[in-house]
Amino acid sequence: MDSHEAAETMRLDKKAQDPAAKDVLRVASYHRLDYDLAVIRTSPVHHNQIRHLLTPKTHTIDLNSSLGVLDIFPLEFIHEICLKLDIQSLFRFHRVNRRARQIASASGYYKAVVKYAVEALFVIFRTGMASWYTFSDLYGVLCTKNCEECGAFGGFIFLPSFMRCCFFCIQDDHLPYLLPTRHVRPFLGWRPVPISSRIPMITTLPGVYSLDETKRTGQFEFVLETSAKSLFPPGRVPIIPRLHSRVYTELQRYMASTALPYFDEKEGVIERGVSCSGCQISLEKALQSSGADYDDWDDRDRIYSHDQFMVHFGKCSEARKLWELSKGGTVKPDVPAFVRNGGCARKRYIPDPFGRR
Ligand SMILES: [Zn+2]
Ligand SMILES: [Zn+2]
Repeated sequence: MDSHEAAETMRLDKKAQDPAAKDVLRVASYHRLDYDLAVIRTSPVHHNQIRHLLTPKTHTIDLNSSLGVLDIFPLEFIHEICLKLDIQSLFRFHRVNRRARQIASASGYYKAVVKYAVEALFVIFRTGMASWYTFSDLYGVLCTKNCEECGAFGGFIFLPSFMRCCFFCIQDDHLPYLLPTRHVRPFLGWRPVPISSRIPMITTLPGVYSLDETKRTGQFEFVLETSAKSLFPPGRVPIIPRLHSRVYTELQRYMASTALPYFDEKEGVIERGVSCSGCQISLEKALQSSGADYDDWDDRDRIYSHDQFMVHFGKCSEARKLWELSKGGTVKPDVPAFVRNGGCARKRYIPDPFGRR
């Protein structure tokens, strides 16, 4: 055997010994639910009754229903029109009759969004963003892996600009600035056209926001500062004041974002972002002995994509110990309560922001 063959044999042997990523992820990682609950959040149980209504039972075209004047167009042309419709208009068409429902829900974009991002879809409706973006826009964000601001894995969408972002850009104020709509209106004078029909305006939902779990019962209207400036002629853009109260600065970013998984088109896999269970064990050990430093907390709070986690797993001794304890993924090792609760200090009740009981 020459040296090349020997190296190749060693590589194949190592590959055979490497644990399957899905088993390692199951044993040594967990999802930070507390981050998901810090932004606009709806309980999946609130959507289960409606989810099936969004997907027709059959895609065989119902020839007994009419689309009215649209019947003169070839079907392909109507499909093309549907791709261009914003989410709200498409759903209006969807409600016309069974045939419209079949056509509206036929695109790959629609099917993927309803399957993997139905919670975000409802939030988009309820916050007034559905008339500004299409299913293809939402599908584009769904298939974007990393935060557009910092490049880390992004498990969230910043709704006013339909931008993939990570939790830390929400937390650390790295997202485009929002202005309360009521601060913009006085500069517009008497205008018959409402702001919400000229630029994207988000209406926030009652809920519990940020890791401090601040409750907001009212609803607020915000617009992007850049969009607000576009309402004025160049050279006559006023200085619209920013307020510095917490609700307008810190909480607004949480109230304008929601969790959105990443859809890997090639592999057909959904990722929500994972954290390392081993790093929580390391942190707890450090706290019990000499004390934890910034790096220990930083490692514990890091969010990885599946690929990134496998790289981290190779370097994290506590994560590897968990894997050994699992006996190849066949036994569930004991993990800290923080990991079991997805980062939440206690079980959290998710209120229905749509007010149903
Ligand atoms: Zn980021
Ligand atoms: Zn680790």
